[in-house]
Amino acid sequence: MRAVDLIRKKRNGGALSGTEISFLIEGNIKGQVPDYQMAAFLMAVYNRGMNDEETIALTGAMASTGRKLELGGLQGVKIDKHSTGGVGDKTQLILAPLMAAMGLKVPSIAGRGLGHTGGSIDKISSIPGFRTDLGPEELMGCLKTAGFFINEQTEEINPADKKIYAMRDATATVESIPLIAASIMSKKLLEGLDALVLDVKTGSGALTRGLDEARRLAELMVRIGNSMGVMTIALITDMDAPLGRSVGNALELKECISALKGSFAPDLMEVTMSLAAWMLHLADAVSEEVRPQRLSENLLKRYKDEIWDYIEHGDAFAKLVECVDAQHGNPDAVLKPALLPAARHIKPVLSPWNGYITRMDAFAVGQASALLGAGRAMMDEDIDPAAGIIIGKKPGDSVKADTPFATLHTNDPSRLKEAEEALLSGIEIGDREPPKRRLIHDVILPG
Ligand code: URA
Repeated sequence: MRAVDLIRKKRNGGALSGTEISFLIEGNIKGQVPDYQMAAFLMAVYNRGMNDEETIALTGAMASTGRKLELGGLQGVKIDKHSTGGVGDKTQLILAPLMAAMGLKVPSIAGRGLGHTGGSIDKISSIPGFRTDLGPEELMGCLKTAGFFINEQTEEINPADKKIYAMRDATATVESIPLIAASIMSKKLLEGLDALVLDVKTGSGALTRGLDEARRLAELMVRIGNSMGVMTIALITDMDAPLGRSVGNALELKECISALKGSFAPDLMEVTMSLAAWMLHLADAVSEEVRPQRLSENLLKRYKDEIWDYIEHGDAFAKLVECVDAQHGNPDAVLKPALLPAARHIKPVLSPWNGYITRMDAFAVGQASALLGAGRAMMDEDIDPAAGIIIGKKPGDSVKADTPFATLHTNDPSRLKEAEEALLSGIEIGDREPPKRRLIHDVILPG
C-alpha cells in the first residue's frame, strides 16, 4: 500500500477502507507517512468528505494510536461534555467542577484554540503552573481527589489527534465534518466514559455554520458514541454571537470563576445550565440503565434547581480549586483572580451610532480576539493569555454614539488598530430592538 495512491483515491472522490485509513493514520504516527502527505490527505478529506463508515474507521484508527483510561475502579458515573468550538465558549470550565461537585467523574481531554475558536486548554493554562500534559496515572489521581481533570491529547493518550489537530489549524482544514467528528470522538472514546453530552454549535462563529450542517455533525457523533458503548446525546446551541461577556483566555477564565460563584451573563447561564441538566439526566439514565428521554420543561427546571444549589453553596468553585492544586497550578490565582495574567494595554471601542446592537458576529469577534494575541496563526505560536475582549453590550442592548460597548485587551499595542477594525466589521446597530435569538436549537437523542 502507498500513501500517494490513497491520497489520490480520496482526492478523486473514492471511499477508503478501514485498512487504508489505518495505514495512513498509524503510518503518520510511526513516521512512515510524512506530514506533507498527511496534510494532503486532510485537504482531500476536506474537499471530498467521508461517508459514515470512513468517519467511524478514522475515529477508531485515531483512538487506536492512544491509550484508553481505565476508570473501572472509580465510584460515580463517568461523564463528559465536548463542544465543537466557538467564541467565548467557556462552559467546560464551569461544567466540569460543577458535575464533579455533584458526585460525577469528568475526565476531560480537551484541545487548544482551533481556527478562530478558543480552546479549554489555552484558557485553563492561564493559571500559573497549571499542567495539561499529565499522564494516565496522575490523571487518575486528579479524578480521585478533585473528581475531574482538564488535560490535552498527549503522545500517550491520543497522539493522532494531538498531531492532526495542530496540522488542521495550519492547513485550513478545520471545518470538515468527518475531521471534527473523528477528532472529538477519538478523544472521548479514550476517556473511558459512561456518557457524553455534545454541544454542537451553529452560527457565524461555529465550525458548522448552518443548522443543517450542525445537525448532520451532531447526528453522526451521537451515532458514533452510542455504537461504541458510550450513551451520547447532542445539544445544538447558538454561536452567532459570542457567549458571555468575555473572549480570550485569562478573561474567560475570570468569567468562569465569577460564574462558579453565582454571577452569570444570561446567555452563558442558559447554555451552561441546559448542558448541566442534560449531563445529570444522562448520569441518571446510566445508573437506572434506561434510555435518555426528551426532557419536559418541568424536569429541566428540577435539574437546574438542583444544580444551582451546588453553585450557591460554593461546592462547584471548591472543586475548581482542588483541580488546580491537583494539576500543579497555583490555587491562589483562582482564589484571587487579580493574580491571573492581565493586559498592559486596554482600549475602549466606541459605538459609532445611537441605537440597539442588532448583530455581533461571533466570527468577527473571534478574529479580533486572535489579532490581539489570544489565538494562533501558526502551529506552535505562543499566545498572550491576557489578550482578548470584554463585551460590555450584547446583541439587544441599547448603545449611545461615542460611548464604549467593548474593551480590547493586549500586551502588544501595535495589534489594537487591526483588532478594532475587525471587531467593528462584525457589529450592526439599528433603530429597533432585535428579536431574541434562540440559544438551544435542538436536542439529538440516540436512534
Ligand atoms: N474540538 C475538537 O476536539 N476537535 C475539533 O475538531 C473541533 C472541536
